[in-house]
Amino acid sequence: KHAAKIRLDDVKGEQSREKDKADRATSEQVLDQRTRMILLQMINRGFVSEVHGAISTGKEANVYGAVAYPDLDGPPIQRAIKVYKTAILSFKDRERYITGEHRFKSGAEKGNSRKMVKLWAEKEFRNLRRIHSAGIKCPEPIQLKLHVLVMELLGDRKGYAYPRLRDAAISSEDAEEVWRSLYIQLLGIMRRMYQVCRLVHADLSEYNILYNDRQLYIIDVSQSVEHDHPRSLEFLRMDIKNTGDFFRREGVETLSDRTVFDFITA
Ligand code: ATP
Ligand code: MN
Repeated sequence: KHAAKIRLDDVKGEQSREKDKADRATSEQVLDQRTRMILLQMINRGFVSEVHGAISTGKEANVYGAVAYPDLDGPPIQRAIKVYKTAILSFKDRERYITGEHRFKSGAEKGNSRKMVKLWAEKEFRNLRRIHSAGIKCPEPIQLKLHVLVMELLGDRKGYAYPRLRDAAISSEDAEEVWRSLYIQLLGIMRRMYQVCRLVHADLSEYNILYNDRQLYIIDVSQSVEHDHPRSLEFLRMDIKNTGDFFRREGVETLSDRTVFDFITA
């Protein structure tokens, strides 16, 4: 009931920049009062200076581009802000990830959707921290407040986000070789995530991997589970199948899912 339609560009400081109309239209989203307050607080504290338009609007979260100016005369830093939606419905089927997750026996499992989204944001923040510290390419987590997560933007200096692997345009003469090496790169990432981070992504696919310049970046880890989660191996098999199927469709001669499973867990 407190929902108000605002243009995120209006949250910015004085230096309103000229942006084209189309760009502005996409940044028009309904944000509730609480989310706006959190964004303003983050601006006041310098974690971000400007919040721009939506990079992605989905069922569970919206992701916005943002910019921070750490030094007055220094270059701007591109950031991404993921705002989890407080809608209960889309989080219902996520229960299976939480059940059995020893890090989240907080009594917030059911019922309270505000607590739920806070939990998911927290989970993503912690998982990102762990994955990033392990040297796996992913957004560096910067700041968390309730259901709002600030992270590094995976994109160019102008603020254009890298494409998802699904949309990556790999059309060079050596495309075949590039795809093959990306496949091998991903196997290494999955193994490292399992062995070093002790995590299974649990929603890994060409939609949750970004691509730039022959590098893969892992995103969207709010549902990732500890490898001692009772269903972690089931989730791992699913990740292996989904990514394997994708690379097979791209013409890569992949290993069998079984071999990959043994490689990751051995
Ligand atoms: P939903 O399921 O509601 O679509 P989601 O949980 O899948 O949301 P993410 O996958 O984390 O959310 O992010 C949605 C999209 O936003 C991604 O596919 C990616 O294109 C973009 N994105 C997310 N994080 C970043 C980032 N740090 N840098 C650049 N782009 C990002
Ligand atoms: Mn996603």
